[in-house]
Amino acid sequence: MSPWVLVCEECGEPMNVYGPEMSTLVGFISPPGHNHDDNCVHRTYRCKNNHTKQVYKRNKCTVEGCDWVGKEECWCHLGKKFDEWPVGTKASDALKFFQETVR
Ligand SMILES: [Zn+2]
Ligand SMILES: [Zn+2]
Ligand SMILES: [Zn+2]
Repeated sequence: MSPWVLVCEECGEPMNVYGPEMSTLVGFISPPGHNHDDNCVHRTYRCKNNHTKQVYKRNKCTVEGCDWVGKEECWCHLGKKFDEWPVGTKASDALKFFQETVR
C-alpha cells in the first residue's frame, strides 16, 4: 500500500500523529512463532486547527506465507481499521509533507 495522508474531516488540513500509540490488553494465543495478537492498536492524529481523530490499524501476522489478519472492526470503537498508518507518523515525514503543501 502506498503512503497516504490522513485529511481532517472538519477542515481539510493534513493530520499528523499526536501522542503515543495505544493498545488494548486482551490476551491472545498465537501458534508458536506467529503473531496473531488482535489487540486493537490506535494512534491519535491532529491537524493544525487542533481537531483530533483516532486512527486504528489492523494487525497482521509477520510470518511469511501466513495470511492471518486481525478483524477489520472491533468492539472498542466505530469504523474500520486501516491496513497502514497514514504518513505523518514520523516527524520528518510530517515536516516534508507540510513543506510540500504549505506554499
Ligand atoms: Zn481540522
Ligand atoms: Zn501467522
Ligand atoms: Zn478497537
